[in-house]
Amino acid sequence: MQLTPYQVVCRHRTIPGQVLLFATKTGALILLAEEDFAALEKGQAVDEEIEQLSEIGFLVADADTEQRQVMHYMDDINRLNPNLTLALVLGMECNFACRYCFEGSQKGGKAMDDATADQLVTFIKQRFGPGKKKLLLQIYGGEPLLYRKRLISLARQLKPIVEARGGELKIDLVSNGSLLTAQVVEELNAWGLDGVKVTLDGLPDNHNHFRPFKSGRESFAVIVRNLANVCGLTKIRLGGNYTNETYTQFGPLLDHLSEQGLTPDKVELVNFNIVLKVNDKLTANEYHGGCATINEPWLREASLHVREEVYRRGYTVPELGPQPCAVEVDDAFTVHYDGSLYKCVTWVGHRQFRIGDIWQGVDEKYRQTHHLLHWQKEGKCQACVYLPLCFGGCRFMAYQRDGHMGKVDCRKSFLDATLEAMLLQDLRYKYGYELFYREP
Ligand code: SF4
Ligand code: SF4
Repeated sequence: MQLTPYQVVCRHRTIPGQVLLFATKTGALILLAEEDFAALEKGQAVDEEIEQLSEIGFLVADADTEQRQVMHYMDDINRLNPNLTLALVLGMECNFACRYCFEGSQKGGKAMDDATADQLVTFIKQRFGPGKKKLLLQIYGGEPLLYRKRLISLARQLKPIVEARGGELKIDLVSNGSLLTAQVVEELNAWGLDGVKVTLDGLPDNHNHFRPFKSGRESFAVIVRNLANVCGLTKIRLGGNYTNETYTQFGPLLDHLSEQGLTPDKVELVNFNIVLKVNDKLTANEYHGGCATINEPWLREASLHVREEVYRRGYTVPELGPQPCAVEVDDAFTVHYDGSLYKCVTWVGHRQFRIGDIWQGVDEKYRQTHHLLHWQKEGKCQACVYLPLCFGGCRFMAYQRDGHMGKVDCRKSFLDATLEAMLLQDLRYKYGYELFYREP
Protein backbone atom coordinates (compact mmCIF):
# COMPACT_ATOMS: atom_id res chain seq x y z
CA MET A 1 0.00 0.00 0.00
CA GLN A 2 1.09 3.57 -0.67
CA LEU A 3 0.17 7.00 0.65
CA THR A 4 -2.41 8.71 -1.53
CA PRO A 5 -1.14 11.50 -3.79
CA TYR A 6 -4.24 13.44 -2.69
CA GLN A 7 -3.18 14.31 0.81
CA VAL A 8 -2.10 17.57 2.38
CA VAL A 9 0.57 17.21 5.05
CA CYS A 10 0.77 19.92 7.73
CA ARG A 11 3.29 20.36 10.50
CA HIS A 12 2.46 23.22 12.81
CA ARG A 13 4.00 24.64 15.95
CA THR A 14 0.77 24.07 17.87
CA ILE A 15 1.02 20.33 17.24
CA PRO A 16 4.69 19.56 17.97
CA GLY A 17 5.85 16.07 17.09
CA GLN A 18 2.68 15.41 15.10
CA VAL A 19 1.62 15.52 11.49
CA LEU A 20 -1.82 16.64 10.41
CA LEU A 21 -2.97 14.78 7.31
CA PHE A 22 -5.94 15.74 5.18
CA ALA A 23 -7.19 13.52 2.34
CA THR A 24 -8.63 15.84 -0.28
CA LYS A 25 -10.58 13.02 -1.95
CA THR A 26 -12.43 11.84 1.15
CA GLY A 27 -12.28 14.90 3.40
CA ALA A 28 -10.76 12.76 6.19
CA LEU A 29 -8.49 14.46 8.73
CA ILE A 30 -6.10 12.66 11.06
CA LEU A 31 -3.28 13.52 13.40
CA LEU A 32 -0.32 11.14 13.49
CA ALA A 33 2.89 11.03 15.51
CA GLU A 34 5.91 11.89 13.31
CA GLU A 35 7.37 8.40 13.72
CA ASP A 36 4.12 6.74 12.66
CA PHE A 37 3.97 8.95 9.59
CA ALA A 38 7.61 8.16 8.79
CA ALA A 39 6.79 4.44 9.02
CA LEU A 40 3.86 4.93 6.64
CA GLU A 41 6.09 6.74 4.15
CA LYS A 42 8.45 3.75 4.23
CA GLY A 43 5.52 1.37 3.72
CA GLN A 44 5.86 -0.08 7.20
CA ALA A 45 2.32 0.25 8.52
CA VAL A 46 0.89 -2.65 10.53
CA ASP A 47 -2.23 -4.51 9.31
CA GLU A 48 -4.72 -2.76 11.58
CA GLU A 49 -3.42 0.67 10.53
CA ILE A 50 -3.53 -0.32 6.87
CA GLU A 51 -7.19 -1.24 7.13
CA GLN A 52 -8.16 1.96 8.95
CA LEU A 53 -6.10 4.29 6.77
CA SER A 54 -7.31 2.64 3.56
CA GLU A 55 -10.92 3.03 4.61
CA ILE A 56 -10.55 6.78 4.99
CA GLY A 57 -8.47 7.22 1.88
CA PHE A 58 -4.91 7.78 3.12
CA LEU A 59 -3.50 4.48 1.87
CA VAL A 60 -4.15 3.26 -1.64
CA ALA A 61 -3.04 0.18 -3.53
CA ASP A 62 -1.12 2.24 -6.05
CA ALA A 63 -0.63 6.02 -6.33
CA ASP A 64 -0.73 6.06 -10.16
CA THR A 65 -3.97 4.09 -10.24
CA GLU A 66 -5.43 6.45 -7.65
CA GLN A 67 -4.50 9.42 -9.83
CA ARG A 68 -6.15 7.81 -12.85
CA GLN A 69 -9.29 7.13 -10.80
CA VAL A 70 -9.50 10.73 -9.65
CA MET A 71 -9.16 11.86 -13.25
CA HIS A 72 -12.29 9.78 -13.93
CA TYR A 73 -14.06 10.71 -10.71
CA MET A 74 -16.99 12.35 -12.50
CA ASP A 75 -17.68 9.15 -14.47
CA ASP A 76 -18.15 7.31 -11.18
CA ILE A 77 -20.27 10.08 -9.68
CA ASN A 78 -22.53 10.11 -12.71
CA ARG A 79 -22.78 6.33 -12.97
CA LEU A 80 -23.69 5.86 -9.31
CA ASN A 81 -25.59 9.08 -8.55
CA PRO A 82 -28.84 8.11 -6.78
CA ASN A 83 -30.18 11.68 -6.91
CA LEU A 84 -32.01 13.74 -9.49
CA THR A 85 -31.40 17.34 -8.48
CA LEU A 86 -33.43 20.18 -9.95
CA ALA A 87 -33.13 23.84 -9.07
CA LEU A 88 -36.52 25.35 -9.88
CA VAL A 89 -37.01 29.05 -10.52
CA LEU A 90 -40.76 29.22 -10.05
CA GLY A 91 -41.06 32.92 -10.84
CA MET A 92 -39.19 36.19 -10.71
CA GLU A 93 -41.37 38.17 -8.30
CA CYS A 94 -39.76 39.28 -5.04
CA ASN A 95 -40.95 41.39 -2.11
CA PHE A 96 -37.40 42.64 -1.39
CA ALA A 97 -35.34 45.26 -3.18
CA CYS A 98 -31.80 44.11 -2.43
CA ARG A 99 -29.20 46.64 -3.48
CA TYR A 100 -26.82 44.07 -4.93
CA CYS A 101 -29.53 42.04 -6.63
CA PHE A 102 -28.55 41.69 -10.24
CA GLU A 103 -31.87 40.24 -11.39
CA GLY A 104 -32.61 43.74 -12.67
CA SER A 105 -33.88 43.15 -16.16
CA GLN A 106 -35.31 39.72 -15.27
CA LYS A 107 -37.24 40.67 -12.17
CA GLY A 108 -41.01 41.01 -12.27
CA GLY A 109 -44.24 39.09 -12.48
CA LYS A 110 -43.06 36.30 -14.77
CA ALA A 111 -43.94 32.94 -13.28
CA MET A 112 -44.34 29.28 -14.21
CA ASP A 113 -47.74 28.65 -15.80
CA ASP A 114 -49.92 25.53 -15.60
CA ALA A 115 -48.84 24.04 -18.93
CA THR A 116 -45.17 24.41 -18.01
CA ALA A 117 -45.75 22.90 -14.56
CA ASP A 118 -47.53 19.90 -16.12
CA GLN A 119 -44.68 19.38 -18.55
CA LEU A 120 -42.19 19.68 -15.70
CA VAL A 121 -43.88 16.73 -14.00
CA THR A 122 -43.59 14.73 -17.23
CA PHE A 123 -39.91 15.71 -17.59
CA ILE A 124 -39.19 14.56 -14.03
CA LYS A 125 -41.10 11.31 -14.56
CA GLN A 126 -38.89 10.56 -17.56
CA ARG A 127 -35.69 11.40 -15.67
CA PHE A 128 -36.43 9.69 -12.35
CA GLY A 129 -35.61 6.22 -13.62
CA PRO A 130 -34.47 2.98 -12.01
CA GLY A 131 -31.57 3.51 -9.60
CA LYS A 132 -32.81 6.92 -8.51
CA LYS A 133 -33.53 7.21 -4.81
CA LYS A 134 -34.03 10.90 -4.21
CA LEU A 135 -35.66 13.77 -6.07
CA LEU A 136 -34.11 16.91 -4.66
CA LEU A 137 -35.88 20.14 -5.55
CA GLN A 138 -34.08 23.37 -4.69
CA ILE A 139 -36.66 26.13 -4.91
CA TYR A 140 -35.63 29.61 -5.96
CA GLY A 141 -37.41 32.78 -7.06
CA GLY A 142 -37.61 35.78 -6.87
CA GLU A 143 -38.96 34.86 -3.50
CA PRO A 144 -40.11 31.22 -3.73
CA LEU A 145 -42.73 31.56 -0.99
CA LEU A 146 -44.63 33.91 -3.29
CA TYR A 147 -45.11 30.73 -5.34
CA ARG A 148 -46.16 28.44 -2.50
CA LYS A 149 -49.29 27.20 -4.26
CA ARG A 150 -47.33 26.27 -7.36
CA LEU A 151 -44.75 24.46 -5.24
CA ILE A 152 -47.37 22.47 -3.36
CA SER A 153 -49.19 21.61 -6.55
CA LEU A 154 -45.93 20.25 -8.02
CA ALA A 155 -45.12 18.34 -4.84
CA ARG A 156 -48.62 16.87 -4.73
CA GLN A 157 -48.09 15.36 -8.18
CA LEU A 158 -44.45 14.36 -7.76
CA LYS A 159 -44.42 12.81 -4.30
CA PRO A 160 -46.58 9.76 -5.18
CA ILE A 161 -44.68 9.19 -8.42
CA VAL A 162 -41.31 9.24 -6.67
CA GLU A 163 -42.50 7.11 -3.76
CA ALA A 164 -44.09 4.53 -6.05
CA ARG A 165 -40.61 4.10 -7.53
CA GLY A 166 -39.05 3.56 -4.11
CA GLY A 167 -37.62 7.06 -3.81
CA GLU A 168 -38.25 10.14 -1.72
CA LEU A 169 -38.93 13.78 -2.44
CA LYS A 170 -36.86 16.42 -0.64
CA ILE A 171 -37.44 20.14 -0.97
CA ASP A 172 -34.94 22.86 -0.08
CA LEU A 173 -36.08 26.46 -0.12
CA VAL A 174 -33.80 29.41 -0.83
CA SER A 175 -35.90 32.15 0.70
CA ASN A 176 -35.49 35.70 1.97
CA GLY A 177 -37.25 34.53 5.15
CA SER A 178 -39.88 37.26 5.29
CA LEU A 179 -42.83 34.94 4.63
CA LEU A 180 -41.53 31.98 6.58
CA THR A 181 -44.19 31.41 9.21
CA ALA A 182 -44.74 28.27 11.28
CA GLN A 183 -47.92 27.61 9.33
CA VAL A 184 -46.10 27.75 6.00
CA VAL A 185 -43.33 25.46 7.20
CA GLU A 186 -45.77 22.91 8.64
CA GLU A 187 -47.69 22.90 5.38
CA LEU A 188 -44.48 22.33 3.35
CA ASN A 189 -43.20 19.70 5.78
CA ALA A 190 -46.03 17.47 4.66
CA TRP A 191 -44.62 17.65 1.12
CA GLY A 192 -41.00 16.87 1.95
CA LEU A 193 -39.47 20.18 3.05
CA ASP A 194 -35.90 19.39 4.09
CA GLY A 195 -34.67 22.83 5.07
CA VAL A 196 -34.55 26.52 4.29
CA LYS A 197 -31.62 28.70 3.37
CA VAL A 198 -32.06 32.29 4.48
CA THR A 199 -29.63 35.16 4.02
CA LEU A 200 -28.74 37.80 6.60
CA ASP A 201 -26.23 40.43 5.56
CA GLY A 202 -24.54 41.27 8.84
CA LEU A 203 -25.88 43.31 11.74
CA PRO A 204 -29.31 44.97 11.48
CA ASP A 205 -28.18 48.34 10.07
CA ASN A 206 -26.12 46.76 7.33
CA HIS A 207 -28.69 44.11 6.50
CA ASN A 208 -31.54 46.63 6.38
CA HIS A 209 -29.51 48.89 4.12
CA PHE A 210 -28.78 46.08 1.65
CA ARG A 211 -31.92 43.97 1.92
CA PRO A 212 -34.99 46.16 2.55
CA PHE A 213 -38.53 45.29 1.56
CA LYS A 214 -39.64 46.81 -1.73
CA SER A 215 -41.56 49.38 0.30
CA GLY A 216 -38.30 50.44 1.93
CA ARG A 217 -39.29 48.85 5.27
CA GLU A 218 -36.54 47.16 7.25
CA SER A 219 -36.49 43.38 7.01
CA PHE A 220 -33.97 42.17 9.59
CA ALA A 221 -36.31 41.92 12.60
CA VAL A 222 -39.04 40.23 10.55
CA ILE A 223 -36.65 37.57 9.28
CA VAL A 224 -35.09 36.85 12.67
CA ARG A 225 -38.50 36.61 14.32
CA ASN A 226 -39.64 34.16 11.63
CA LEU A 227 -36.49 32.07 11.93
CA ALA A 228 -36.86 31.90 15.70
CA ASN A 229 -40.46 30.71 15.25
CA VAL A 230 -39.69 27.98 12.73
CA CYS A 231 -36.24 26.75 13.78
CA GLY A 232 -37.75 23.81 15.65
CA LEU A 233 -39.85 22.84 12.63
CA THR A 234 -37.29 22.63 9.85
CA LYS A 235 -33.54 22.80 9.24
CA ILE A 236 -32.24 26.35 9.02
CA ARG A 237 -29.23 27.05 6.84
CA LEU A 238 -27.97 30.52 7.33
CA GLY A 239 -26.28 32.40 4.52
CA GLY A 240 -24.83 35.88 4.44
CA ASN A 241 -22.89 38.02 2.02
CA TYR A 242 -19.91 39.96 3.28
CA THR A 243 -17.49 42.47 1.83
CA ASN A 244 -14.06 43.66 2.92
CA GLU A 245 -15.85 46.34 4.95
CA THR A 246 -18.48 44.15 6.62
CA TYR A 247 -16.95 40.74 7.34
CA THR A 248 -16.19 41.56 10.97
CA GLN A 249 -19.94 41.95 11.62
CA PHE A 250 -20.69 38.29 11.15
CA GLY A 251 -19.45 37.09 14.56
CA PRO A 252 -21.56 39.73 16.38
CA LEU A 253 -24.46 38.80 14.09
CA LEU A 254 -24.33 35.24 15.44
CA ASP A 255 -24.27 36.57 19.03
CA HIS A 256 -27.39 38.55 18.24
CA LEU A 257 -29.12 35.53 16.69
CA SER A 258 -28.18 33.36 19.63
CA GLU A 259 -29.81 35.89 21.98
CA GLN A 260 -32.96 35.65 19.85
CA GLY A 261 -33.09 31.87 20.28
CA LEU A 262 -31.23 30.86 17.12
CA THR A 263 -28.61 28.96 19.05
CA PRO A 264 -26.16 26.57 17.33
CA ASP A 265 -28.42 23.55 17.97
CA LYS A 266 -31.22 25.29 16.03
CA VAL A 267 -29.17 26.14 12.94
CA GLU A 268 -27.97 23.28 10.77
CA LEU A 269 -25.31 25.19 8.83
CA VAL A 270 -23.80 28.65 8.63
CA ASN A 271 -22.33 29.48 5.24
CA PHE A 272 -21.26 33.11 4.92
CA ASN A 273 -19.77 34.08 1.57
CA ILE A 274 -18.42 37.14 -0.15
CA VAL A 275 -20.65 39.40 -2.20
CA LEU A 276 -19.63 38.45 -5.69
CA LYS A 277 -18.52 41.06 -8.14
CA VAL A 278 -20.28 39.93 -11.28
CA ASN A 279 -19.94 41.66 -14.60
CA ASP A 280 -23.36 41.04 -16.03
CA LYS A 281 -26.80 42.31 -15.21
CA LEU A 282 -28.64 39.03 -15.03
CA THR A 283 -27.39 37.34 -11.94
CA ALA A 284 -28.90 37.34 -8.47
CA ASN A 285 -26.51 36.90 -5.58
CA GLU A 286 -28.48 34.16 -3.82
CA TYR A 287 -27.87 31.95 -6.79
CA HIS A 288 -24.27 31.36 -5.95
CA GLY A 289 -24.83 28.97 -3.08
CA GLY A 290 -21.51 27.75 -1.78
CA CYS A 291 -19.55 28.81 -4.82
CA ALA A 292 -17.56 31.99 -4.97
CA THR A 293 -14.53 33.57 -6.52
CA ILE A 294 -11.79 33.30 -4.00
CA ASN A 295 -8.71 34.87 -5.41
CA GLU A 296 -8.91 38.37 -3.96
CA PRO A 297 -6.10 38.77 -1.40
CA TRP A 298 -8.26 40.29 1.41
CA LEU A 299 -10.51 37.27 1.26
CA ARG A 300 -7.89 34.96 2.74
CA GLU A 301 -7.90 36.75 6.05
CA ALA A 302 -11.62 37.50 5.91
CA SER A 303 -12.72 33.93 5.14
CA LEU A 304 -10.56 32.50 7.94
CA HIS A 305 -11.81 35.16 10.34
CA VAL A 306 -15.46 34.49 9.51
CA ARG A 307 -14.99 30.71 9.71
CA GLU A 308 -13.31 31.06 13.10
CA GLU A 309 -16.13 33.28 14.38
CA VAL A 310 -18.74 30.75 13.29
CA TYR A 311 -16.89 27.78 14.77
CA ARG A 312 -15.96 29.60 17.98
CA ARG A 313 -19.63 30.15 18.76
CA GLY A 314 -20.47 26.50 18.25
CA TYR A 315 -22.19 26.77 14.84
CA THR A 316 -21.50 24.37 11.97
CA VAL A 317 -19.44 25.39 8.94
CA PRO A 318 -19.56 23.66 5.51
CA GLU A 319 -17.37 20.57 5.33
CA LEU A 320 -14.10 20.58 3.43
CA GLY A 321 -14.31 17.89 0.80
CA PRO A 322 -15.14 17.16 -2.85
CA GLN A 323 -17.79 19.46 -4.30
CA PRO A 324 -18.05 18.92 -8.02
CA CYS A 325 -19.59 21.68 -10.09
CA ALA A 326 -23.20 20.89 -11.04
CA VAL A 327 -22.26 21.54 -14.65
CA GLU A 328 -20.46 18.18 -14.60
CA VAL A 329 -23.20 16.26 -12.81
CA ASP A 330 -25.41 14.65 -15.46
CA ASP A 331 -28.55 14.49 -13.33
CA ALA A 332 -28.52 18.07 -12.10
CA PHE A 333 -30.44 20.81 -13.92
CA THR A 334 -31.94 24.21 -13.38
CA VAL A 335 -35.45 24.71 -14.71
CA HIS A 336 -36.43 28.30 -15.35
CA TYR A 337 -40.08 29.42 -14.92
CA ASP A 338 -40.58 29.21 -18.71
CA GLY A 339 -39.38 25.60 -18.88
CA SER A 340 -35.95 26.35 -20.29
CA LEU A 341 -33.08 24.31 -18.90
CA TYR A 342 -29.68 25.42 -17.64
CA LYS A 343 -26.86 23.55 -15.94
CA CYS A 344 -26.64 25.84 -12.94
CA VAL A 345 -28.91 28.43 -11.42
CA THR A 346 -26.28 31.13 -11.99
CA TRP A 347 -26.94 30.90 -15.73
CA VAL A 348 -30.68 31.53 -15.80
CA GLY A 349 -31.46 34.23 -18.32
CA HIS A 350 -28.12 33.85 -20.13
CA ARG A 351 -29.84 32.47 -23.22
CA GLN A 352 -26.56 31.45 -24.81
CA PHE A 353 -26.10 28.91 -22.00
CA ARG A 354 -29.57 27.43 -22.24
CA ILE A 355 -29.18 23.66 -22.70
CA GLY A 356 -32.67 22.79 -23.89
CA ASP A 357 -36.14 22.79 -22.41
CA ILE A 358 -38.50 20.44 -20.61
CA TRP A 359 -40.40 19.68 -23.85
CA GLN A 360 -37.50 18.83 -26.17
CA GLY A 361 -35.11 17.64 -23.47
CA VAL A 362 -31.42 18.30 -23.02
CA ASP A 363 -29.27 19.27 -25.99
CA GLU A 364 -26.10 17.32 -25.32
CA LYS A 365 -24.08 19.96 -27.16
CA TYR A 366 -23.79 21.64 -23.77
CA ARG A 367 -20.90 19.28 -23.06
CA GLN A 368 -18.87 21.33 -25.53
CA THR A 369 -20.28 24.78 -24.79
CA HIS A 370 -19.77 24.26 -21.03
CA HIS A 371 -16.33 22.73 -21.52
CA LEU A 372 -17.03 19.60 -19.50
CA LEU A 373 -13.97 18.04 -17.91
CA HIS A 374 -11.75 20.91 -19.03
CA TRP A 375 -9.61 20.26 -15.94
CA GLN A 376 -8.60 16.86 -17.35
CA LYS A 377 -6.67 18.63 -20.09
CA GLU A 378 -4.88 21.08 -17.76
CA GLY A 379 -1.41 19.81 -16.91
CA LYS A 380 -1.40 21.74 -13.63
CA CYS A 381 -4.67 20.08 -12.53
CA GLN A 382 -3.46 16.59 -13.29
CA ALA A 383 -0.67 17.01 -10.76
CA CYS A 384 -2.62 19.06 -8.22
CA VAL A 385 -3.28 17.74 -4.73
CA TYR A 386 -6.39 19.95 -4.56
CA LEU A 387 -8.01 18.41 -7.62
CA PRO A 388 -10.72 16.54 -5.64
CA LEU A 389 -11.63 19.77 -3.82
CA CYS A 390 -11.74 21.85 -6.94
CA PHE A 391 -12.24 20.01 -10.25
CA GLY A 392 -11.43 23.19 -12.10
CA GLY A 393 -13.48 25.49 -9.84
CA CYS A 394 -16.60 27.41 -10.75
CA ARG A 395 -17.45 27.88 -14.40
CA PHE A 396 -19.62 30.84 -13.60
CA MET A 397 -16.69 32.65 -12.01
CA ALA A 398 -14.49 31.73 -14.96
CA TYR A 399 -17.15 33.25 -17.22
CA GLN A 400 -17.29 36.42 -15.13
CA ARG A 401 -13.51 36.68 -15.39
CA ASP A 402 -12.93 35.70 -19.04
CA GLY A 403 -16.29 36.06 -20.77
CA HIS A 404 -16.23 32.32 -21.45
CA MET A 405 -15.89 29.18 -19.34
CA GLY A 406 -13.13 27.42 -21.20
CA LYS A 407 -10.48 27.97 -18.55
CA VAL A 408 -10.34 26.70 -14.99
CA ASP A 409 -11.15 28.92 -12.01
CA CYS A 410 -7.99 27.98 -10.11
CA ARG A 411 -8.15 27.91 -6.32
CA LYS A 412 -4.58 26.86 -5.67
CA SER A 413 -3.21 30.13 -4.32
CA PHE A 414 -6.23 30.53 -2.02
CA LEU A 415 -5.94 26.96 -0.75
CA ASP A 416 -2.17 27.26 -0.33
CA ALA A 417 -2.76 30.33 1.83
CA THR A 418 -5.70 29.08 3.89
CA LEU A 419 -6.09 25.31 3.95
CA GLU A 420 -3.69 24.62 6.81
CA ALA A 421 -5.42 27.20 9.00
CA MET A 422 -8.83 25.72 8.09
CA LEU A 423 -7.62 22.23 8.99
CA LEU A 424 -6.37 23.47 12.35
CA GLN A 425 -9.79 25.05 12.92
CA ASP A 426 -11.46 21.72 12.09
CA LEU A 427 -9.08 19.87 14.38
CA ARG A 428 -9.83 22.19 17.24
CA TYR A 429 -13.54 22.86 16.91
CA LYS A 430 -14.96 19.91 15.02
CA TYR A 431 -12.94 17.01 16.34
CA GLY A 432 -11.53 18.35 19.62
CA TYR A 433 -7.75 18.53 19.60
CA GLU A 434 -7.42 16.30 22.69
CA LEU A 435 -9.13 13.43 20.87
CA PHE A 436 -6.13 13.06 18.61
CA TYR A 437 -3.33 14.34 20.78
CA ARG A 438 -0.73 11.82 21.83
CA GLU A 439 2.22 12.83 24.00
CA PRO A 440 5.35 12.68 21.85
S1 SF4 B 1 -20.98 26.95 -12.16
FE1 SF4 B 1 -20.65 25.12 -10.92
S2 SF4 B 1 -19.36 25.74 -9.22
FE2 SF4 B 1 -20.20 27.60 -10.18
S3 SF4 B 1 -22.07 28.15 -9.06
FE3 SF4 B 1 -22.67 26.83 -10.76
S4 SF4 B 1 -22.63 24.73 -9.93
FE4 SF4 B 1 -21.47 26.03 -8.54
S1 SF4 C 1 -7.81 24.59 -11.04
FE1 SF4 C 1 -6.01 25.02 -9.78
S2 SF4 C 1 -6.54 24.32 -7.71
FE2 SF4 C 1 -8.01 23.42 -9.12
S3 SF4 C 1 -7.18 21.39 -9.59
FE3 SF4 C 1 -6.46 22.81 -11.19
S4 SF4 C 1 -4.47 23.53 -10.45
FE4 SF4 C 1 -5.53 22.62 -8.71
